[in-house]
Amino acid sequence: MAQRTKEIPTADPAWRSRRRTALAVLIIAAVSTASATFAPSDSLPRFIAITHDTTIVRGAILDGVPVVPLREAVEAAGASVAPIDSLAALDLRFRTHHVRLIERNPFAVVFVRATGEADLVQLPAPSRTYGGRAYLSLRSLEAVLRGVTNAPVRWDGEHTLVLEDSTADPASAFEITGLHVEQRLNGYLMTVRASRPLGTVESWLKPDGWLFLTVENARADTVALRSVRAGGAIRQVLVFQSATSVQITLKVAPDVEAAEVLKDPNSNDLLVNLRTRSASTQQDLERRRQAMKEREDAERRSRWKLDVVVIDPGHGGKDPGTIGVRGTYEKNIVLGIGLKLGELIKKHMPDVKVVYTRSTDKFVELYRRTQMANEAGGKLFISIHCNAIEKKPSRTNGFEIYLLRPGRTDDAVRVAALENAVIELESDRSRYKALTEEEFILVTMAQAAYMKHSERFAEITARALDDHTTLRNGGVKQAGFYVLVGASMPNVLVETGYLSNVKDEAFLRSQTGQQQVAEAILKGLQSYRTVYERDVNEGMGGR
Ligand SMILES: [Zn+2]
Repeated sequence: MAQRTKEIPTADPAWRSRRRTALAVLIIAAVSTASATFAPSDSLPRFIAITHDTTIVRGAILDGVPVVPLREAVEAAGASVAPIDSLAALDLRFRTHHVRLIERNPFAVVFVRATGEADLVQLPAPSRTYGGRAYLSLRSLEAVLRGVTNAPVRWDGEHTLVLEDSTADPASAFEITGLHVEQRLNGYLMTVRASRPLGTVESWLKPDGWLFLTVENARADTVALRSVRAGGAIRQVLVFQSATSVQITLKVAPDVEAAEVLKDPNSNDLLVNLRTRSASTQQDLERRRQAMKEREDAERRSRWKLDVVVIDPGHGGKDPGTIGVRGTYEKNIVLGIGLKLGELIKKHMPDVKVVYTRSTDKFVELYRRTQMANEAGGKLFISIHCNAIEKKPSRTNGFEIYLLRPGRTDDAVRVAALENAVIELESDRSRYKALTEEEFILVTMAQAAYMKHSERFAEITARALDDHTTLRNGGVKQAGFYVLVGASMPNVLVETGYLSNVKDEAFLRSQTGQQQVAEAILKGLQSYRTVYERDVNEGMGGR
């Protein structure tokens, strides 16, 4: 996605020198309220919210990314912002949704206020703080707004995002705008027209013919609803609007024996099947439900299709990684294995695209590795490393496969510290927050959708490495590796062996050893694909 690539801030060494200029621009940036006519567009990014007034929030370009001050932009869009101190997070309180943003975390958690349901939205770029003030890229702001409001969001030129007035059309101020009944063979289909997706709906048909429909978190155009003409299936319509919900109470024809409510897959409307003694309406609804399910299944299959595998050879360039008993550099071994694995995938799984985070001896920042994987639409992220302990030579040997979770043992914490140490070589270390327990809760939440498959791949690949190499099986473990934090796909880190062990080092530095490891991982990948695609087809693929 070219747009997204353009959005991502770069971390080149020149960044610090440019920072002062950027800050100067930000100090000048301010919020102003303007009249309905817009000044001629300038080159600075702007967010224009047309609500009761027109508010223009001026931003700046930071590292090539158009950003706006987060609080001002969100308030202009009609929401409030509350900090959650302990988590370096912000809660954006929109009318129907809460959005939780975590600094430097590319995932936003979107809560539906009425139901408490939560969903994760991946932003083109995470929020960032400069001088104690939070900024959000215009593209990320667009993604947030599209998730929480039905008001039109559009671009006016490259750097101006506009939120249109949703109340300009009086009808759209209401979620529920009308009601329509049509007779079907042996039944009725009632359509409750909705301008926006509705919250939870509960229905109850009492034996005396009163049907109660309660729609959470919605406002109804009561005038329109009460003016529905009685006759046919509907004998009387009563509408009660409370602060948080709408109750529509209908007296239905005496021959209606059941009412079934479902959301129309093609619109925001509610469909209420009023079934009379023998119902062919039922069949019609059944067909629609089937069509909806098929479409959802097809979408899920394509979203989860294992078509892009990202290979991440650890370290590189100025970062040699760990150094073996005979002076072998980890960066060279893992690059060798990574490239061999890539070639094997291309040969044996030709429909799978291989993406490398590096295919040469160069330095790549940790955050950039998963960012590249996400940009490439990766479906599996395999980070390849070699282990070591301080005492060289030493007897400790074997491979281990790690999942991203808080380290359970001192040993796991040690390995994570070893692999995370590369951050010291990066130019902007402030990107990496300490992986405290609290941070882990958020990271784990963001990864919950992928954890089941990360575990599957880890287990299958551990078995394959055990079967196809002479390396000792150190099993599947867990620890906090920064390189895995941002991945929006199943992900593992493979510690292929100990360079502090004479035998492991000799095996891993040999071409045959590297080839064996690559072949074992390929075998793991092939078995995993079978399991994974079966899961997805059975609808167990998670989100
Ligand atoms: Zn490493």
